[in-house]
Amino acid sequence: MARYTGPKCRYCRTEKTKLFLKGERCNTAKCPLSVDRKNISSPGKDPRARSRKMTDYGLQLREKQKLKRIYGMLEKQFKLTFNEAARIPGKTGENLITLLEQRLDNVVFRLHFASSRSQAAQLVNHGHVFVNGKRINIPSYRLKAGDEVAIGPSGLKMLIIKENLKEFSKSGVNPWLSLDVDNMKGKFLAAPRRSDVTEVADIKEQLIVELYSR
Ligand code: SF4
Repeated sequence: MARYTGPKCRYCRTEKTKLFLKGERCNTAKCPLSVDRKNISSPGKDPRARSRKMTDYGLQLREKQKLKRIYGMLEKQFKLTFNEAARIPGKTGENLITLLEQRLDNVVFRLHFASSRSQAAQLVNHGHVFVNGKRINIPSYRLKAGDEVAIGPSGLKMLIIKENLKEFSKSGVNPWLSLDVDNMKGKFLAAPRRSDVTEVADIKEQLIVELYSR
């Protein structure tokens, strides 16, 4: 499946906000948007240029781009997920975030097997992740409540997964997940509600709904 392979920090510079796309590095001074490093201009933009007020369309577009990039998706797949969210009863924007949280690559990241969603997608693509005992190599695979997500035999010896677990599992996992660090497995207990997903608390999903309703 096609995916963006260019510099990820460029996305954050465009949005002028940290999207946390590079794992641990995002929390260090190496991050171009860290507080120690000021005056970051948007990529390709003359820093002396006067910034113009953004139109409604611009605001809606930026919000969509942010959410899409946080979950590491390309436009076509993101739009398909949005269309699906629109078919589910309830608020489309909230449904969208719940569906994004159900993606296998996202859960592998949230269980701390990977330091970023892109690394999680790679682990899934390479066949290191099993769901309910079956190898699944589709990052967008949608998990259901009660599904078990485990690292398969080929991944159990992988240093990078062990290090990620050691480094990040101290902070625990989200309440809709459970993790067994010793056996490198976890459970997707239930689909979270929009309000539970604090990582994207700043995203105004209503703007994305307005954008796609144009
Ligand atoms: Fe964004 Fe992380 Fe790069 Fe910082 S280090 S700009 S948060 S991807």
